[in-house]
Amino acid sequence: MRFLPQLFANNQSWASQQTHRDPEFFKRLCAIQRPDYLWIGCADSRVPANEIVGLAPGELFVHRNVGNIVGRDDQNCLAVLQYAVDVLRISHVIVCGHYRCGGIQAAFGPPTTDPLEGWIAHIREIRQTHARELALLPGDEQRWQRLCELNVIAQVQILSNIPTVVRAWQRGQQLAIHGWIYNLNDGLLHDLEVSINKPAY
Ligand SMILES: [Zn+2]
Repeated sequence: MRFLPQLFANNQSWASQQTHRDPEFFKRLCAIQRPDYLWIGCADSRVPANEIVGLAPGELFVHRNVGNIVGRDDQNCLAVLQYAVDVLRISHVIVCGHYRCGGIQAAFGPPTTDPLEGWIAHIREIRQTHARELALLPGDEQRWQRLCELNVIAQVQILSNIPTVVRAWQRGQQLAIHGWIYNLNDGLLHDLEVSINKPAY
């Protein structure tokens, strides 16, 4: 192995551990993918989706990007959502942000260069919408952490109006959207209590 031999060694060891524990593991995974959840989380390496909710391969469909954004015009995110809802028939979409998110922090800073700036614009918009509430907080640290929460709440709202979700509700498909936040300090998830499990119309 010319490059990154350690990662390949890790992979071999992981694959043999899985097979040792459960000889049918890979055969079963190949045959069927039936996750019940779509996770939309931050790309941050400290927030490994499957691990923090204790789910095995095959149990969580995952989409990650900087700042856990649901872009209305992001073909990547919209395609993942459509596949998860229409084909895999998942029942829950979890938008999970995390405190001390670098993407959220960037939305308080000066303009950066493309393409990051174009992406951060989504978060700057949410910051602007909540400018009054954020201004009342005692310091920059509190504003940063609160915007991490407000961003998740905004993404849940956006999701509830995406045509894939609206159509699923219209045909009576069981589908709930949840907004959670992860604390890097203690590894715990918190429910922001903004779940939507039925259409708003
Ligand atoms: Zn982040």
